[in-house]
Amino acid sequence: MTAASKVVGEGRASVAKYEAYCVKCRAKREFEGTEVTLKNGRKAAQGICPVCGTKVMRILGKAS
Ligand SMILES: [Zn+2]
Repeated sequence: MTAASKVVGEGRASVAKYEAYCVKCRAKREFEGTEVTLKNGRKAAQGICPVCGTKVMRILGKAS
């Protein structure tokens, strides 16, 4: 019996493509981000700029 059960804990990690402005590149970048909910209740997509590695964030607006 070799039941190697791999448990990947992060079930809410839904990676999707977003576009955000990278302040370092000074350009719009497409990035793979995860949706997060900010403290003020707004939703945002958070990710890393694929070019320079800077954190980028895109505000998605209120959840409707
Ligand atoms: Zn960048």
